[in-house]
Amino acid sequence: MVTPARVFAPGWVLVESDRIFDVGHGVPPRPADVDLPSATIVPGYVDAHVHGGGGASYDTGDPEDAATVARAHLAHGTTTIMASLVTDGPKSLERSVRELAELVDEGLLAGLHLEGPWLSPRHVGAHDPLLLSEPRPEDVEALIEAAGGHLRMVTLAPELPGGLDAVRRLTAAGVVAAIGHTDATYDDARAALDAGASVGTHLFNAMRGLHHREPGPVAALLEHPDAYVELIADGVHLHPAVLRLAATRKPHLAVLVTDAMAAAAAGDGDYALGPMAVHVRDGVARLADSGAIAGSTLTMAAAVKFAVRTAGLPIEEVVRAATASPAAMLGLDRVGALRPGFSADLVVLDEDLEVTRVLHRGHWVSRG
Ligand SMILES: [Zn+2]
Ligand SMILES: [Zn+2]
Repeated sequence: MVTPARVFAPGWVLVESDRIFDVGHGVPPRPADVDLPSATIVPGYVDAHVHGGGGASYDTGDPEDAATVARAHLAHGTTTIMASLVTDGPKSLERSVRELAELVDEGLLAGLHLEGPWLSPRHVGAHDPLLLSEPRPEDVEALIEAAGGHLRMVTLAPELPGGLDAVRRLTAAGVVAAIGHTDATYDDARAALDAGASVGTHLFNAMRGLHHREPGPVAALLEHPDAYVELIADGVHLHPAVLRLAATRKPHLAVLVTDAMAAAAAGDGDYALGPMAVHVRDGVARLADSGAIAGSTLTMAAAVKFAVRTAGLPIEEVVRAATASPAAMLGLDRVGALRPGFSADLVVLDEDLEVTRVLHRGHWVSRG
């Protein structure tokens, strides 16, 4: 059992209704209802950056679609899920935010993450370049207001005009400001971190690269003592050596994210990512027109397995990066660890690190 602060081998967990009552090492204090002799038990995964799955996307703002996404990822161990929205027109973004905010109230979603529209046209990735804009104070205010307290994170390019003011306004409103899709220099990124930014969105991807004479945002984020860095562990976005480099530099601040789009837990085919058409072939999502990588088809279970088995990272650190660290990054209470008083969310893994069972708020999930 990886809590993840400690490893109990063997270990036990006592669940009462939707909460963890106690955890411990060795023989359980009373006979177990469920005995899992060769399993590894980890906290339910926390996915901080995800756009879709199971064939559906959050971008529609449709509650049925959002439920499909959450259910698809739940079957792969994600018990706490954010809703990330790609760049869209101001009105449709505001509408989606309003509709999805209700699902945060209902407990389906942990919060909302806006990825855009305040992104650099030089690192646009899979976002529609025609819909990018500068963060004008009234637009920032309108989206904070539309989310009704449920906007948890905004990814923006801090070097844009008004970027640092937006970072200050967002953090003052309790929203995590994340540096991403950015052409920021090292100094720009330092200024954003000084202004309150605390996350690097999918580090290395869609940002100015790491160069020994122009270290850029990557070095500013990696050397910062408190900044979290998101990493996409699918073997497509990052070479395993780069994943290792970043994860070992920040053992308590590395966060695995899926950045999954609709094809995750669904299969190859033609999909949409916001207003953009995406082709998925052999599990790799690319924009239909430019061929740019357009999110991943990861589940958190696959990311954890890749980070341990292919990148060779220690399981305790990988589990922390998929559970306690994203919870801390987002300021989410009582999820992301096997601790008394925390939500009874756990994942049972077999020897191949495949998910065999998921407990969500005290109930075993049917994974049919
Ligand atoms: Zn992105
Ligand atoms: Zn994304």
